[in-house]
Amino acid sequence: MNTPSASPVDLVVVGAGIVGLAHAWHAVRSGLSVIVLDRDDRPVGASVRNFGHICTSAQAGLARQYAEVARDAWLTLAASAGIEVRESGTVVVARTDAEMAVLDEFAAARPGEAEILRPRDVAARLGWAAPDVVGGAFLARDLRVDAPTVIPALIAHLRELGVDIRFGENVVELREDGVRTAAGWFPATAVAVCVGHDVDRLFPDIAGEGAVRRCRLRMLEIDAPHATPIDPALFTGTSLLRYGGFAETAAADGVRAELAATDPELVTHVVNLMATQRPGGRVVIGDTHHYERTLDPFDDETLDELLLERFRRLFGVDSLHVRRRWRGVYAASEVSPYLLASPRPGLVIASVTSGIGMTTALGFARDALERHGIL
Ligand SMILES: Cc1cc2nc3c(=O)[nH]c(=O)nc-3n(C[C@H](O)[C@H](O)[C@H](O)COP(=O)(O)OP(=O)(O)OC[C@H]3O[C@@H](n4cnc5c(N)ncnc54)[C@H](O)[C@@H]3O)c2cc1C
Repeated sequence: MNTPSASPVDLVVVGAGIVGLAHAWHAVRSGLSVIVLDRDDRPVGASVRNFGHICTSAQAGLARQYAEVARDAWLTLAASAGIEVRESGTVVVARTDAEMAVLDEFAAARPGEAEILRPRDVAARLGWAAPDVVGGAFLARDLRVDAPTVIPALIAHLRELGVDIRFGENVVELREDGVRTAAGWFPATAVAVCVGHDVDRLFPDIAGEGAVRRCRLRMLEIDAPHATPIDPALFTGTSLLRYGGFAETAAADGVRAELAATDPELVTHVVNLMATQRPGGRVVIGDTHHYERTLDPFDDETLDELLLERFRRLFGVDSLHVRRRWRGVYAASEVSPYLLASPRPGLVIASVTSGIGMTTALGFARDALERHGIL
């Protein structure tokens, strides 16, 4: 059994996903002593199940501010700790004039953020010619990491910096002066609770006030559809309705109406057709979104068929070979993209409630710690 810490540390972080690790990184860099506790034997939450897309440019409002801080942080981690962060950018493929109108408006509003592409430029960026393309955009500032490997790499780096990270420690009692697991009491000057969607079970009142629900997503990993690697992340028209920077354009209404008329199944299952390539060459594709307090235990195969059919069309191939399937879950709220609460001084509860934790957690965490006087 792990031995609890005898003397108080400056900060106990509960949860070793990207949000908890981001809190630990900022805290240890500020000279604080930090323990991170996670109930599982290794990271298996949303932070290892995602696309690894650091989607900086398409954010808006507070998320954009956090995304900029986080982008710098990822690049610092790459430079100082050798963590693999690809400056690969994102290609957005437009297959209708309505989608192109969003990209034109976005590019005009954000000079330097998006390069408008002609169909042949899209093919050059992707390395293959997607059918029915009318144009696209290249978001050069977006980054990419490999989620299943970057989180363990970040944990190893934090341990080198002196952060004590312990797995198999289920936190059952939370106070402003420490936390309790089966191993005993971990005293601390401050506690940051970064448990992702489990915030609704630990703090139901706070999660209820923030209208937090669980979002369930379907993800697939397939063999590369083409010989040429797809270095940039790949967005499609559905992505234009998901990310604030696109969704706030006047032209987004046109895409919304068009999608409802031409492909209502994508609307029903809140599909965002996007892809990123993993280091070994396989491609992660997804995703669907279903919002519930208690998740349906059964995964409907027709959702995977829907995704695969739309990706066969996008990639211009007759078949795709699925290698792995999984479900992801994250905290979601229509009220606010972030849940940040402090029921008592020294106790901070922080969850990303908008599905953009890889993009923004390293910015959100710094703000959470500063606002609550921990940094
Ligand atoms: C399928 C999918 C695709 C996504 N794609 C992207 C993307 O490309 N780009 C992007 O920016 N974002 C993406 N996201 C969102 C992003 O992954 C999440 O916002 C982020 O990972 C949330 O991080 P977290 O640390 O809050 O949660 P988690 O990674 O789930 O970590 C929470 C941790 O808390 C621990 N925990 C819970 N309760 C306790 C307890 N009582 N005691 C101790 N430990 C506890 C859990 O074991 C877990 O390890 C995606 C999410 C999913 C699911």
